[in-house]
Amino acid sequence: GRCVVAVDGPSGSGKSTVSRRLAVGIDARYLDTGAMYRAVTWAVLRSGVDPADAEAVAKVAGEIDLRIGTDPQGYGVTVDGVTVDADIRGPEVTGSVSAVAAVPAVRTLLVSRQRDMIDNAGRMVVEGRDIGSVVAPDAELKVYLTASEAARAQRRSAQDAADVTVTAADLARRDRLDSTRKTDPLQQSADAVVLDTTELGIDEVVARLRELLVE
Ligand code: C5P
Repeated sequence: GRCVVAVDGPSGSGKSTVSRRLAVGIDARYLDTGAMYRAVTWAVLRSGVDPADAEAVAKVAGEIDLRIGTDPQGYGVTVDGVTVDADIRGPEVTGSVSAVAAVPAVRTLLVSRQRDMIDNAGRMVVEGRDIGSVVAPDAELKVYLTASEAARAQRRSAQDAADVTVTAADLARRDRLDSTRKTDPLQQSADAVVLDTTELGIDEVVARLRELLVE
């Protein structure tokens, strides 16, 4: 039957690794909603549109053919047939994604696509910022992962093979942008289970979530 697990939290909280591993473990599909905002950002930059120009950004978002797979062991993201998996993790996209994600029309569009994918999946682990609060408020399990700023910067820089000081500054900047935007701010659902992953290993977090699912 239907089973939706909403995993929210800031970047570097362990969200992606935990979500993918949980999905494999419970034989569910997986949706990385951050990758969708990143793919729209890639398209905005490709078209030469200013990420701060909300109207132009919304137009790009409405015109592209964005596709994303839901296999937790390897999902592809394409924009108009171009594979963008690597590019959407690059510094250009990362530097502009908060601005693009703040455009209300972009959020409306992507949230509606995300809901369609969830409805079609049956069992799905969905990772993002607003999954428990906006995209799937009726999820069977809502999790909010946190970690200290230092731990998050450490993990993210290892993941991106980037300098930890630069990564820390970028994370702080994105957190600020994501949490102060007027449109649909990063919301923590009141009914989400909060797990601090600073001291917990990935396997411990996944095991805890599996326990919560059978409860
Ligand atoms: O999770 P990830 O770091 O890939 O997300 C990239 C950006 O996409 C976030 O910094 C945020 O601005 C945006 N985002 C969002 N809502 C989501 C997922 C991501 O606004 N559900």
